[in-house]
Amino acid sequence: MRLLSKKEFLDAVAAEVVVCTKCPLWKTRKNAVPGEGNSESPVMFIGEAPGQSEDFEGKPFVGAAGKFLETLLSEIGLSRNDVFICNIVKCRPPRNREPMPNEIQTCTPYLERQIKIIKPKFIVTLGNYSTAYIFSKANLPFSGITRARGKFYESSILDMQIAIFPTFHPAAALYSAKYREQIAKDFQLLRDELAKRGIVKQQFS
Ligand code: URA
Ligand code: SF4
Repeated sequence: MRLLSKKEFLDAVAAEVVVCTKCPLWKTRKNAVPGEGNSESPVMFIGEAPGQSEDFEGKPFVGAAGKFLETLLSEIGLSRNDVFICNIVKCRPPRNREPMPNEIQTCTPYLERQIKIIKPKFIVTLGNYSTAYIFSKANLPFSGITRARGKFYESSILDMQIAIFPTFHPAAALYSAKYREQIAKDFQLLRDELAKRGIVKQQFS
């Protein structure tokens, strides 16, 4: 019997997510957003929750924040198809409010399955919510994204060794030149580390 590929396992998770009714967010969603990208990627990006565009299309990071994320990725020699992109909460909270603890708790078993299937070498957490969640899973103390960002945390998470790299959420950077500069700097650090490990080609600028 043939073993299933990572893609097939991820598709099975996605098939459950799109019909999930485990927390109240299903009532107001148009589409659940399981996540997408390269299932063999050594790098996973984890955001917060779908916004309006994502809810409309059923895909992660396709609105304004997503465009900026794509720009940041292209500046370090990556496209969205090279990496796996998802969120800690798979359905849009009404009016883009922040996800509630019970929603995060109910939804994150899907994310944990995705992490276990992909077995990434790097997890890039985007913003406070995903960083707080991933840090808690890695038993790392968390005192806010501003302090945590821009560093690699070699961690044991879900019985795997993974480097966690937190940065600001690209949506925060949309409205602040300061955040934009800092998030771009963080991506350069990420590029250097990925290059060191042979994951992206070193670019000389
Ligand atoms: N913000 C997120 O955190 N995730 C998305 O998919 C889009 C915007
Ligand atoms: Fe299910 Fe997660 Fe959507 Fe809630 S947010 S309905 S737990 S997929």
